[in-house]
Amino acid sequence: MKLCDFHTHTFYSDGDFSPVELVRRAMVSGCSVIGIADHVGAGGIERLVREIAADCELVNKHWDIEALPSVELTHVPPGAIAELAATAKAAGAAYVAVHGETLVEPVEPGTNLAAVRCRDVDYLCHPGPITPEEAKIAAENDVFLEISARRGHCLSNGHVARIARAASARLLVGSDAHGGDGFLTPEFAEQVLAGAGLDADEIAVCGENAELLLQRIRARIAQR
Ligand SMILES: [Zn+2]
Ligand SMILES: [Zn+2]
Repeated sequence: MKLCDFHTHTFYSDGDFSPVELVRRAMVSGCSVIGIADHVGAGGIERLVREIAADCELVNKHWDIEALPSVELTHVPPGAIAELAATAKAAGAAYVAVHGETLVEPVEPGTNLAAVRCRDVDYLCHPGPITPEEAKIAAENDVFLEISARRGHCLSNGHVARIARAASARLLVGSDAHGGDGFLTPEFAEQVLAGAGLDADEIAVCGENAELLLQRIRARIAQR
């Protein structure tokens, strides 16, 4: 599959690499599209998006990869998600990700629901114990749900896949790479999806979903 990874972190938050090195390593690992979505709360959204966007512009000019600037709203109170997602979009984020209710962190309950209800949120990372109702809203609002390749966050992948399938919500695989051992290859991405219980057709649909998100992002960028 064409590998699109919308979930990575640089040393602008808690990753090991600069945006440029991250993109280089992702490219060598077989990635065609990479979204840089560093952790953020209310402070620093504009600065972060501006800095990541400058590096994305640089690599997009010189390398055969499509790098996209984003942020992952992380551990922000659910009541603030809509406002901060709009701030990130206005700051130039190509898309907005939200750090979902992973099983391995005390993410505030209500985060998944606030994310899938928000028209400015594109991608709900590691949604942990997502409910059928939340998945239904995600499907209606075209919020993509993540199958995570990250240790810990991946523990609910089987549940996420089952609930998303029943609700016809769209799934994507994300590396959540923070360092050298976190990168996906196209082969490993398919294995992670298969490990979540997806069959070959469903894995192919995940590839189509990534393309859908990419088209949405390109249209958004073209309108600016
Ligand atoms: Zn992180
Ligand atoms: Zn996260």
